[in-house]
Amino acid sequence: MCNLKFGAYLYEPEKATGFDFHVLRVKLETGMRISPVKDMYSNIAVFADNAASRSHPDWISQSPLGPARMGNSNFNIYWDVVCATQPEHRAEQLDYIEDVDRHSLGVWLNSQYFADHGHCTCPRCKELWKKSGLSWLEWRRKEVTDYIAQIRERVKKELVMCIQPDPISSYERYGVDFDDLAKYADAFNVVMFSKSYATPWYWEMLARGFKKLLKKPVYISLYVFGPGDNAKDVPSAAELLTVSVRCARAGIDGILYLASGASQIRDFQKAAVDKIELRQRLKSYGGQPVQEILDLVTNWEKIVE
Ligand SMILES: [Zn+2]
Repeated sequence: MCNLKFGAYLYEPEKATGFDFHVLRVKLETGMRISPVKDMYSNIAVFADNAASRSHPDWISQSPLGPARMGNSNFNIYWDVVCATQPEHRAEQLDYIEDVDRHSLGVWLNSQYFADHGHCTCPRCKELWKKSGLSWLEWRRKEVTDYIAQIRERVKKELVMCIQPDPISSYERYGVDFDDLAKYADAFNVVMFSKSYATPWYWEMLARGFKKLLKKPVYISLYVFGPGDNAKDVPSAAELLTVSVRCARAGIDGILYLASGASQIRDFQKAAVDKIELRQRLKSYGGQPVQEILDLVTNWEKIVE
């Protein structure tokens, strides 16, 4: 019996073989959108949106350390992020999310919170905060949670909250309270993207910590091969197998593998299948969950032949 669920997390609408489910990146942080697909879940970046900030430069999230603009190295921000209280963006995203939900299996949200610590200090946010009578951090939390509640009313199918891999300071940085989100979420997805998993200990620890904190099923997402990568840039199949096994034994409920398309997933599957000695060695790394990862790879043998 298999308890762990395995997903392919893709930029292109072609499904990868050998997975329980598929998540399609229908709206990227660049603002680029593609059509949702009936039998895939849809991943939507909400406030990270270069296109929105290009059309409306005044929508960008503000802070004492500068705006949430790509290139502001005070923050881990790789895209422009719209202020999380921007009313027109919020309304448009609600309608969009509802429509995408209707045309796919459900919605996996990311960037559905403030840009980072200190955000947002635009005039509207300052005004809203003052009127709220709450502390700064509690006001941010309420803004995030209230918006998630509005999203929940629109999403009739599965709603998954993707969150940053920060178990300690997500409240202070993003306004994210895990228990608040758990009320509306069907599951969480902890995004653990890295170009290397050379030290699996840290990822295992994070997986264990999140499983302890989050009151809904916990998926993690691992990085296989992004758009524009070449083979030298990405984690090796050996690293991916090892980190999968070590996170699985920490009690998580499933793993997603991110790749630009189904063919990059297939290359990874083939490379994983070829790691015969490592697969043998990993059998001793834990109980049932580890076995399920190794069984998954055994199933891939038929696919990559
Ligand atoms: Zn603002």
